Amino acid sequence: MIRKKILVTGGAGFVGSHLCERLLNEGNEVYCMDNFFTGQKQNIIHLMGDPFFELIRHDVVNPYLIEVDEVYNLACPASPIHYQHNPIKTIKTSVMGAINMLGLAKRVDAKILQASTSEVYGDPDVHPQPEGYWGNVNPMGERSCYDEGKRAAETLFRDYHKQNGVKIKIVRIFNTYGPGMHPNDGRVVSNFIMQALRNEDITIYGEGNQTRSFQYVDDLVEGMIRMMASKDSFIGPVNIGNPDEFTIMELAKKVIELTNSKSKIIYQTLPSDDPMKRRPDIQLAKDELNWTPSIKLEEGLLKTIAFFESHM
Ligand code: NAD
Ligand code: UDP
Repeated sequence: MIRKKILVTGGAGFVGSHLCERLLNEGNEVYCMDNFFTGQKQNIIHLMGDPFFELIRHDVVNPYLIEVDEVYNLACPASPIHYQHNPIKTIKTSVMGAINMLGLAKRVDAKILQASTSEVYGDPDVHPQPEGYWGNVNPMGERSCYDEGKRAAETLFRDYHKQNGVKIKIVRIFNTYGPGMHPNDGRVVSNFIMQALRNEDITIYGEGNQTRSFQYVDDLVEGMIRMMASKDSFIGPVNIGNPDEFTIMELAKKVIELTNSKSKIIYQTLPSDDPMKRRPDIQLAKDELNWTPSIKLEEGLLKTIAFFESHM
């Protein structure tokens, strides 16, 4: 068997830890790089005894050289609360992290996949969002450090491919949830589940009529692996998300129902530039990767609730 050497940056985070586990289970040698800003050792502790798993404490803002066959570049805080905590560091992570990891890929001739985001579409005026849509992004707002950082990273990927022939893949990830999210992560699914399990007030920002389309983490990991394995000429970007769209109010009610909670809904101020709607057009992923998400919201929420219950 050929054991591929694979670097996962942001590997101790929510998505990264699931990806590391899956890649190890498939018989690869996995290097997990993280600076532990939002990631935790707890997410990967079960992998650390595996001789084919290696943990590298490193910040992607600084260059790094390692001989690998593939790189999954996930390093970047993803929750608005965390990425807005130090916005300069967030954009540095996206832009300098992309430059450093693309430089590495170029040097060792590795294939590299970028974890981009539906945030590149901003507050969209096209719905659902196809990859051809250029987006509606504020360059001077609270979300800009993340949105513009990820947009610039896409540009860097495209230009390293064009100018230097680096083998690239870009996935645009839509809201993803599941076991392994940090309970204080600040994103809506973890917030609502923790609040419901503690019978605390459920905090809806705004009136709750904004929408998101929630994808279970296993579906995302499958999509990323299929993208990495796709033909070299298919570089993306490709949307990876679940097209089932819900209002935030519907999500709150669903979480209360599934947890049998006594929580009440309260309303708080809607943060600026919070996108009013979001749903992926996944035709390209269907056509090129033969991929569709398979886990419905209720099934995924039940698994996530069980995880949080066992970690309280
Ligand atoms: P996360 O915050 O749980 O994980 C990010 C990981 O990157 C953490 O382990 C963190 O410590 C690490 N990291 C941050 N800055 C770093 C740096 N400078 N150097 C090294 N490591 C660093 O978030 P996640 O949900 O697992 O997201 C993973 C990736 O997927 C991110 O790039 C994110 O932008 C992208 N994404 C996620 C979602 C989602 O809904 N989960 C949606 C769109 C895009
Ligand atoms: N949200 C909310 N209550 C919370 C956390 C988030 O109503 O406790 C809303 C938030 O305003 C946004 C949606 O839920 O409209 C998704 O927020 P999240 O931070 O999960 O991700 P993003 O806005 O980046 O899609």
